This record gives sequence, structure tokens and C-alpha cells, in this order.
Amino acid sequence: MSKNIAVLAGDGIGPEIIEQAIRVIKFIDPTLILNEAPIGGAAFDLLGHPLPESTLELAKKSDAVLFGAVGDWKYDNLPRHLRPEQAILGLRKSLKLFANLRPAVLYPGLLNASTLKKEIVSGLNLLIVRELTGDVYFGMPRGVRKVIDGEFIDDLEGFDTMRYAESEVRRIAKIAFEISRSRNKKLCSIDKANVLETSQFWRNIIIDVSKNYPDVELSHMYIDNAAMQLVKNPLQFDVIVTGNLFGDILSDEASMLTGSIGMLPSASLNANKQGLYEPSHGSAPDIAGKNIANPLATILSAAMLLRYSLNREKDALKIENAVQQVLNDGLRTSDIYEEGYYKVGTKEMGDAILKKLSNK
Ligand code: NAD
Repeated sequence: MSKNIAVLAGDGIGPEIIEQAIRVIKFIDPTLILNEAPIGGAAFDLLGHPLPESTLELAKKSDAVLFGAVGDWKYDNLPRHLRPEQAILGLRKSLKLFANLRPAVLYPGLLNASTLKKEIVSGLNLLIVRELTGDVYFGMPRGVRKVIDGEFIDDLEGFDTMRYAESEVRRIAKIAFEISRSRNKKLCSIDKANVLETSQFWRNIIIDVSKNYPDVELSHMYIDNAAMQLVKNPLQFDVIVTGNLFGDILSDEASMLTGSIGMLPSASLNANKQGLYEPSHGSAPDIAGKNIANPLATILSAAMLLRYSLNREKDALKIENAVQQVLNDGLRTSDIYEEGYYKVGTKEMGDAILKKLSNK
């Protein structure tokens, strides 16, 4: 049966980069059904809400969602619940997307883009699996209250609650182990078990789940050391699994190893492997409509969609190889351009990928 993909282009550069990803998906499989719907500021302008009911319903009944980007400064004065960015939060919540996958891959052609020495980052290909819906970001209670004892009695204090339920850790662990199995069978779980109860609990559960995956080599690392190791020797990692807070920080750190925001795809999955796929960058209103945005992060997000939600590893690899070849040929959008290479626009980069896919 044909699979359904909801395509939500959004604002700023969203429509131009999504257009290129659509061309790639249609080339890979013209029978896939792509349904477009408005989201973000574009949806607010059209229907008065950044995540209209019709868009949400379409996303829910689709096998996967391909998302561009949302946001523009012109919506900055809207009340918070009507801001474009609320659309992503609403989608994550409604689709129960708890596993955020952020690969950091340094393509050989882009070695100079990384701020690290070539010998440290050459060959980098790691994946961070971040738990997305729990931890101190959502734990209750939280707020501001009066201190009732100790040195700061009667003062005001801000507080949050770090917490993870057992099944929350089990489900993210399962996704991380399964992905590790499909890669190099090496998983590193990152926590702060030497200080935090939540982290010790997290570690115990990860160890328990690992018994179902004896073929995957599991290691543990404290977050402070991991932050250091990621820049000292990033090649030691294959798949990393971690909680919401630590993952938020580490995935941004890892993304910078590759040097360019225009190259970074991401996926957020639920328990049924239904997923939302989007570039890691925003809507870049400063360059929107000029045909200069880099569409590769979105095209690589489409590859992840094929891999994780449609189970089409070969097609995902085809797209990733085409990206690598185009970079090897020296084509660069302006964000990754250096002297001596060929500067191309958004559409021309899409053309080049299609050409590679058709082996021309
Ligand atoms: P941004 O990622 O949009 O842009 C940061 C810088 O990177 C800009 O100079 C931009 O031109 C450049 N850039 C980003 N993507 C690029 C691409 N594909 N090719 C070439 N250059 C690219 O971040 P920002 O400027 O902080 O935010 C702009 C808007 O995007 C805001 O409204 C913000 O809320 C929103 N935003 C949305 C998402 C999302 O939709 N998931 C994520 C982050 C920010």
C-alpha cells in the first residue's frame, strides 16, 4: 500500500528547501503520496492558527511528516500560543514524538568547514538519540516559591524537577539499541549518575534493557566528560543515547563539529516509528526567497524519513551518497562556499542531486 507523507513547508526558506526535498522523494518513488498543508506563520496568515486542526489531522494520519521550518520576526508580537514555533511543540505533543535523532556527519568534501583539526574530525559519523518529552524540562512541580529552611530561608527560589519514569527510559533505550544494531553496534549512554538519582535510575534501566541486545557494546559516560570527549576525540562515538537536558546541549555541540547548520537533518519518532523529519536549522528569514538557502539538510531529512519511518534503507543511502558525490564535485551553496569551489543556488543544488540519483 502506498505510504502517505504530510509535507509542511512553513515559513522563510521552508518552501524553497522543501521543494527540493519533494523533487528528490518523487524521484525515488513516484507512488508515495505527498499531501501539503500550511503550518507556522503561513498557517496563521491563512487560517488564524500556527497549527490548524486540518494540518494536525493530516499529520496524525500520515506515515511521516516532512517539515521545513517555521518562524519570522513579523510574528514576534503575537501572543505566545499563536507564535509559529508553537506548531512544532504542538506536533511533537500530539504525535507523541519522544525520540529525537540528530546525526552529525562530516562529509569529506567539507573537512575545512569544521572548526576542529582535520585529523580529529575526518570520518565523523555519529548519531545522538535524545529523549524529548521528559526530564527536568517537563517534570513537576516547578516554579518559584519561598525557601522554608537553611541558609537562604525566607528567600525566593526557582525550582524544577528532574524525573524519568521507567517506561520512558525503556522506550528510548529500545530505539537507541535498535538503531545501534543497524549501525556499528556501539552505544554510549550519557548521564550524571555520580551525582543525580534520576541519572543512576536511567543507567540501571539502560543496563537492564541492554540484556536484550547482547550484540551491542554498551558504555556509559558522565555528561561533563562527554562534552569534553566530543571535541577531543569525537570518532570514538557511534550512537549516543541521553536524556532531554543533556541531549539538548550535546546535540548542538555535536552539530558544530560538522561546521554547517545547512547540512544537519533531524528526526523525531514515536513508538510506532511515525516521525517528523526536519532540518536542524530555522526558517532563516534573512535569506528567504533568494534561492541561496542550502537544501541539503532537508534532503538528508527526507533520507532519514525513508530509513526510519518507511524502512527503506537502500533509498536513504542512495540520497546520502548523492549528497556526498555532489559535494565531492565541488558544488556549494553560499553557507558552505569556499574559494575554488562552484557556488550554486538552492534549486541548482536540487538539480545536481537529481542528476546524481539518475546517474547522469
Ligand atoms: P536560523 O537557523 O533560521 O538561522 C541562523 C543563521 O543560519 C542565519 O544567518 C541563516 O541565514 C543561516 N541559515 C539557516 N539555515 C540555512 C540554510 N539552510 N542555508 C543557508 N543558511 C542558513 O536561526 P534564527 O535566525 O535564530 O531563527 C530564525 C527563525 O527561525 C526564528 O523565527 C526562529 O524562531 C525560527 N526557528 C525555527 C526552527 C524550526 O522551525 N524548527 C528552529 C530554529 C529557529
